[in-house]
Amino acid sequence: MKKLEDYVRSIPDFPEPGIIFRDVTSILQDADGLHLAIEGLMESLKDVDYDVVVGPESRGFIFGVPVAYEAGKGFVPVRKKGKLPCETISAEYDLEYGSAVIEMHKDSIQPGQKVVIIDDLIATGGTIEAIIGLIEQLGGQVVKICFVMELAGLKGREKLSGYDVESLITYE
Ligand code: IMP
Repeated sequence: MKKLEDYVRSIPDFPEPGIIFRDVTSILQDADGLHLAIEGLMESLKDVDYDVVVGPESRGFIFGVPVAYEAGKGFVPVRKKGKLPCETISAEYDLEYGSAVIEMHKDSIQPGQKVVIIDDLIATGGTIEAIIGLIEQLGGQVVKICFVMELAGLKGREKLSGYDVESLITYE
């Protein structure tokens, strides 16, 4: 029986020399890999009381929507600048490679809602730190943050101290 980590393809020197890129497409394209990932995330959330799932573009959508659907919750997308049609709030943050601006609809989270964030991978933690800021500005309470993969050497977790963080696979 293969484990989830057996489905991750690791690509040396992508997108820059010295970086090992952890590819999720090799999980997604295999029915058993996809099943293990979604079931693993569901297991991480089995004791969590929450109202809604938030996921960033684009791989947070891939993993966040099936979890929200299976749990009977709504899904709120965090998008790159300029994509959302209604009134938004935005945050700029540093990426592992460059910088970015992300946005959420102002009415996407109601004050007091309990929010779970799901993404494919935590590297420096900058993306999730920015998303937490947006959710909290809207009055939401982040009750758990789940990743399929964590690059522990980049110490992203240090930016998320005080939050409940769980990753299905950890790379040192
Ligand atoms: P962070 O903001 O530095 O934590 O970067 C996290 C984002 O970068 C995630 O949403 C990933 O999609 C992307 N990312 C960074 N490194 C990798 C990798 O090795 N594999 C896949 N995605 C990556």
